[in-house]
Amino acid sequence: MSRYARVHLDRAGDRALDYRIPERFVESLAAGSRVRVPLRTRLVLGTVVEVLETSAVESPREIHEMIGTAPLIRPKLIEIARWISEYYCCPLETAMACVLPQVVRQAAVSPRRLNFARLLRTASAGEIEALARKAPRQADALQAVQDAGGPRPVAELAEAAGVSDTVFRALERNGWIAIESGEVARDPFANETFLPTSDLVLNAEQSLAVEAIKEAIVAPSRPILLFGVTGSGKTEIYLQAIRHAIALGRTALVLVPEISLTPQTVERFKARFAGVQREVAVLHSHLSGGERYDEWRKIHSGGARIVIGARSAVFAPLDGLGIIIVDEEHEGTYKQEEAPRYHARDVAVLRAQREECAVVLGSATPSMESWHNCRTGKYRLLRLSQRVDDRRMPVIRVLDMRKAPRPAGAEAICAPALLDAIQKRLAAGEQTILFLNRRGFSTTMVCQACGHVCRCPNCSVALTYHRDAAQLACHICGHRERAPKICPACKDPGVRHSGVGTQKVEDTVKRIFPKARVARMDADAMARKNAFHQTLQAFKEGAIDILVGTQMIAKGLHFPNVTLVGIINADLSLHLPDFRAGERTFQLLTQVAGRAGRGEVEGEVLVQTFTPFSASIQFARHHDFDGFSEQELEFRERFGFPPFTRMILITVRAQMLERAEFTGQTLVRRLREAIAGNSSIGDCVPAPLEKARGYHRFQVTLRGASARSLSQAIQQTLAVLPLPEDVFVAVDVDPVNLL
Ligand code: ADP
Ligand code: ZN
Repeated sequence: MSRYARVHLDRAGDRALDYRIPERFVESLAAGSRVRVPLRTRLVLGTVVEVLETSAVESPREIHEMIGTAPLIRPKLIEIARWISEYYCCPLETAMACVLPQVVRQAAVSPRRLNFARLLRTASAGEIEALARKAPRQADALQAVQDAGGPRPVAELAEAAGVSDTVFRALERNGWIAIESGEVARDPFANETFLPTSDLVLNAEQSLAVEAIKEAIVAPSRPILLFGVTGSGKTEIYLQAIRHAIALGRTALVLVPEISLTPQTVERFKARFAGVQREVAVLHSHLSGGERYDEWRKIHSGGARIVIGARSAVFAPLDGLGIIIVDEEHEGTYKQEEAPRYHARDVAVLRAQREECAVVLGSATPSMESWHNCRTGKYRLLRLSQRVDDRRMPVIRVLDMRKAPRPAGAEAICAPALLDAIQKRLAAGEQTILFLNRRGFSTTMVCQACGHVCRCPNCSVALTYHRDAAQLACHICGHRERAPKICPACKDPGVRHSGVGTQKVEDTVKRIFPKARVARMDADAMARKNAFHQTLQAFKEGAIDILVGTQMIAKGLHFPNVTLVGIINADLSLHLPDFRAGERTFQLLTQVAGRAGRGEVEGEVLVQTFTPFSASIQFARHHDFDGFSEQELEFRERFGFPPFTRMILITVRAQMLERAEFTGQTLVRRLREAIAGNSSIGDCVPAPLEKARGYHRFQVTLRGASARSLSQAIQQTLAVLPLPEDVFVAVDVDPVNLL
C-alpha cells in the first residue's frame, strides 16, 4: 500500500501537487516536512501540507529527498497559514513564508551558509597593511575576522567587510584562517548577565487577575483583555503568569510592539527568568540573518521556552504553548502593511484557540475592537483600576494655543505655561519629556506669500525639510532635492519651513535653557547603532534633563524621575482622513501622559492644542476611557464603522492613471454583483495618498457583517478578472491604515 503527500511548492503561488512517499521516508515524513520533488525536468523545494492514504492523481511521481529528519513546520502553524491565506486574501505561499522564515528555508537547503571562519594567527597592524597593498579585499576580510573576536559565520563576516565569500577562501589558503562548518548559537545578549529578580507581592486587583489567568492556562476559555492604566502593574502579572506556565512544563509567547522591544523590556524578562536565561529567546527586526536563524532553531528544537518578540513572533515555532500575551494590543504596528496583511493580535487569538492555551491582551487604552468584544461577552475583561502603590494619575492641563501669545520666532513652539513648568523641573532636579508627533527639523516648506507647498513629484505628499543637509525629503519614496531659497511658484523669497520638528524643539529649548542638558530621540537621531540604548541609559541615570522625542518615547518606558510631559502638538493625529483619528489621538495622549509621575513625585502633563474641546482631548484629560469609548462606539455604530462592521480596503495601482481607475471601476461593478445584500461597497476613489513611488492609487472600501464572506467574494471576483500587466491590486482585510 502506498502513501501520498500533498506538497506545496515554493515560489509557485497556490500550487500543491501530490507525490508518492518512497518506502524509506514513510516512517519519518509528516505534514510540515520540507522535501525536494521533481517538477517537469527539475527538482524543486516544497512543504508537505498533508499526508494522504489515496490520491486522485493517476500515478504520482515520487518524492526525491526529505530535508532534515523531522518536520520543520508544526502542523498547527500550517493550519494557521491556511487560515491567513483564506481570511486575508493572499496566496498560501505568502502565508507559508511567515511560518517558515526565509533564512530558515535557505539554511535548510544550503548548510554551507553555516561555515565559520576562525582566526589561526593574529595579524599585526604591519602585516595587515602589507596585505592591504597586495590584496585589499583580503585585508578587509581578515580585519573583520579579527574584530569578531571569535568564530563567526563567513556569510556574516563577508557582509560586514563588504566582500564576497571567496575572499575568505583565499585567506584560508594563505593560512590566516580556518573555515569550519559548525553550529554556534549567536545570542545577542551573550555578554550580559542579569541579576535574578523575584516575584513582587501583588495587590488585590493584580492577584485576582493572575489567578484568573492561571486558571485560563489550565482550562482555556475566552480570550482575556487585561485593561489596566499605565503603571498598574500589568507586566508583573505577565511575569507571574509565565512563571506558572513554565512550572507546568508549558511554554510562553509574549508579543510587544517593535517600539517597546527596548533593552528595558527585554531586561525585565531576562532578569526575572535569569535561572532559565538561555531559554528566553528574543525576536526583533534588528537581528542579523544569522541571529534570526539561531533563535528560530533554538525555539524549534525546544531550547527556548519563553519567546519575546514583535509582530512576526506570533509564528514562533514553540511547542506546548501555555500562554500567549499581546502587550499594548491596541498598537497599529501589529498589523502588517504588506502581504500577508495579517493582524498579529488576531492571529494570536486564533493560535491560542488552536493550541488550546490562554491568551491575554493587555492595554491601558484597549482598541475599540477588543473593547467591543468584552461588551458582547466574547472576551473576558480583567481590570486594574489603580496604579501600583496607589500613585495618582498625572494631572493633565490643556493649553489653548489659540490664546497663547505668539511672539515672532521659535518661542511660539512652547506656550509660556509650558516654559514655566520646565523651569520648575530644572530647579528641582527633575526630568521633562517633550513629545512631538513628527520627525525632521521642520515639516513642510510653505510660501508665506502664495501658500505654495513643496511636494514630492512621485508621491504628491508634502516634503519634509531636513536642516542638516539643507534638503527636502520624501518619507515615502525617499526622493530628495535641495531646499529652495525662493518660492518655486511665485519666486517670493518668503518661502520657509513651517510646522515644528523635534530638532527645532530641541534647538529652541536649548536656547531658552542654556544650562539644561537636552537630548533628542527620533528616527533620525537614533539611526546610529546603539544610540537608542545610550540615550535611554543616560536619561535613566539622570544625565539628561529634557528629552525631546517622537512616538519612540511615547510608550513602554519607565522613568521614575520624569515629572513633566509636554505634548507640543496634540492636534496632528486628529486631522488624518481616518475614522480612527479620534481613537488614535486619545491613545496617544493617554500613553504619553503615562510617562509622567511613575516615581514618588506626582506627575504633570501639559497638552498644547488648537482644538481644546475635542472629545479625544477632553476624555484623555480626565483619564476617562469609559466615557471616550462609549461616545466613540456610538459614533462607529451610527456610521457603520468597525467594530460594528468589518471593513476591507482594496487598493488598485498602476503607472497610468486611467488603467488604475478603469480597473478599480470594473472591480466595483463585478463586486456589486458578487457580494451579499447586507454588505456595501463604495465607489472607486483616488486614495488619500494619490500617488506613491510613481504609481497612481485608487481605493475601494467594502463593509459588511462578515469579513470572511467579503474576502470570499473578492477572491472569486479577482480570480476571473483579467488584470492588465502593470496593474496591481492589494486587498487589506481589517485595515488599520487607511492612507
Ligand atoms: P504596566 O505594565 O501596567 O505599565 P508595570 O508592570 O510596568 O505596569 O508596573 C509599574 C511599576 O510598578 C514597575 O516598576 C513594577 O516593578 C512596579 N510594580 C508592579 N507591581 C507591583 C507590586 N505588586 N508591588 C510593588 N511594585 C510593583
Ligand atoms: Zn515620494
